[in-house]
Amino acid sequence: MIQNTNQTEQKDPVKKKPEKQEKPAKQEKPVKQVKPEKPEKTGREAAAMTVCPECGKNTEKTVRNVCPECFGKKLNVFELPPVLHARVCPRCGSHYYKSKWEDMGTPEEVAVLTAEENIGVADILTNVSVGMHAHPRSPYIFDVLVDVKGEVDGVTYDKDSKTEVRVKREACDMCSRRAGGYFEGIIQIRANNRTITKEEVVQCLKLVEETMLVQLKKGDKLAFVTDTITFKDGADVYIGSSKAGRHVCKHIIESKGGTMAESYTLAGMKDGRDVYRTTFAMKLPEFKKDDVVYFEDKVIEIKNCGKRVTGINLMNSSNFFIDIEHFKNAKLLGNTADAKDAVLVAVEENGIQILDPETFETVTIKKPMLFSALPGSEIKVFKTEYGIFAL
Ligand SMILES: [Zn+2]
Ligand SMILES: [Zn+2]
Repeated sequence: MIQNTNQTEQKDPVKKKPEKQEKPAKQEKPVKQVKPEKPEKTGREAAAMTVCPECGKNTEKTVRNVCPECFGKKLNVFELPPVLHARVCPRCGSHYYKSKWEDMGTPEEVAVLTAEENIGVADILTNVSVGMHAHPRSPYIFDVLVDVKGEVDGVTYDKDSKTEVRVKREACDMCSRRAGGYFEGIIQIRANNRTITKEEVVQCLKLVEETMLVQLKKGDKLAFVTDTITFKDGADVYIGSSKAGRHVCKHIIESKGGTMAESYTLAGMKDGRDVYRTTFAMKLPEFKKDDVVYFEDKVIEIKNCGKRVTGINLMNSSNFFIDIEHFKNAKLLGNTADAKDAVLVAVEENGIQILDPETFETVTIKKPMLFSALPGSEIKVFKTEYGIFAL
């Protein structure tokens, strides 16, 4: 008698369209030229004014052989338990639904879904529509008002009622795993051929956090950081999802350049299958912004070192760019943060005279493009074995 409705039926009552209830009037119209005095009636309607066998009243319309009122008294439009329970994970917001933890939106939506899951609408009804509204009584208790409408033999019946949905906060499987220190991978954050700076570690960890949040929202429930260990040469980030780890590395490389290599180690067995852990060896590029390097007879101030290296050739103020794979054997000379102040003595057409900040001898060096400092002022210079350069 009672059916469990599912979402589709409730949202799209048309699906339940009855086949037997075609209205006779439609079939007749086009054929007849002479207007009949009265529309013809079907057998059921033709039996106008019958006596209801239950209450004895005269009735024009019958529903399953009794008057609509008598049928309505016997009909239970829907059944719904007065109290229902839902489980919601306080960390990720997922809801335990049909024996699985799933993302289900706001607590209100969870309350409505729980009611939908438990309502039983009478089988006999056609053209069913269900309305539900959740009203919070407290943050974890909702009154769900339910209104169901449907037809039997063309007569509409409806009923409203309410149920109370109590939401219990409980860690989902994935969040329990996280609490238990579960991890599928380790991201090792390092720099290539040099020690990573503290600042770079902080920036990378921020990118890890951002990416994990995005992946969690996209439905990867294992997108969490189990543990982060930072030390002098970098950081190791233990992560719940290898898939998310791959996104993290991609994100770091897009933002800061560098390379990543994946390797796998057998971590044990689960459900008869080998379980592997992934190590992501992430290496930031050897050079970073504001490093000064010697490369193919040029002294270059690096502006960006990602897939493409860009900078300024300090020897002639020209722009420098090259793909990272061709940027081999560059030698680090220092960083513009180490530049020294030097007194500008004179400005000539192609050169400038300065006092060498170490020897205090007057030397002539190349004049940078767009140079506007006046003699007597101090300018920043960078001293290398290949000469002194004004920045
Ligand atoms: Zn009756
Ligand atoms: Zn959770």
